[in-house]
Amino acid sequence: EVTDVGEVVLQNYHNFEMLYPEFNFMLDNDLHQPALVHVNRNHLEQIMIILLDNAIKYSTIRKEVHIAVASDERYAQVAVQDFGEGISEEDKKKVFHRFYRVDKARSREKGGNGLGLAIAQQLVEGYDGNVSLESSVGYGSVFRVELPLIREVEPKSEEPVNTD
Ligand code: ATP
Repeated sequence: EVTDVGEVVLQNYHNFEMLYPEFNFMLDNDLHQPALVHVNRNHLEQIMIILLDNAIKYSTIRKEVHIAVASDERYAQVAVQDFGEGISEEDKKKVFHRFYRVDKARSREKGGNGLGLAIAQQLVEGYDGNVSLESSVGYGSVFRVELPLIREVEPKSEEPVNTD
């Protein structure tokens, strides 16, 4: 299945704008051509929903979420940034663990069971992509997803050149 990352991101952006009118969503689309990946469309949607849901859930005062989509030679890249409570250095790895929640009491109020990021990471890695997190307590977080692009011309394997 071939999925256009820009298209799915745009659709999720519109959906979340409608679902959370009190939030200010910004989309920074830096794609110059379709970013096509071999990823099931529902899987990519699920990844986006997990990251956007979290951005909203853990935004405290500033109700703003930035979404960016771009690509380099190898990857389609999506970033979801919030300006919420942030995640400490110590918790950065753990938030991707199943059932891990940073502040048990406070997180429980917000609902959820600590599975979202574990699922997102598993999906992304299943497609040979990767997820990373940049965060600072009190300032917010950026989750970045990279998924391998379908290359227009698959590089040929090195074969001995026949000069006959
Ligand atoms: P759910 O299973 O419904 O997704 P959850 O949000 O608790 O529930 P995860 O998405 O796996 O589960 O997140 C794990 C923990 O990481 C959260 O409980 C929260 O403490 C922290 N976290 C996740 N995203 C953010 C964020 N954008 N800002 C701050 N903390 C976050």
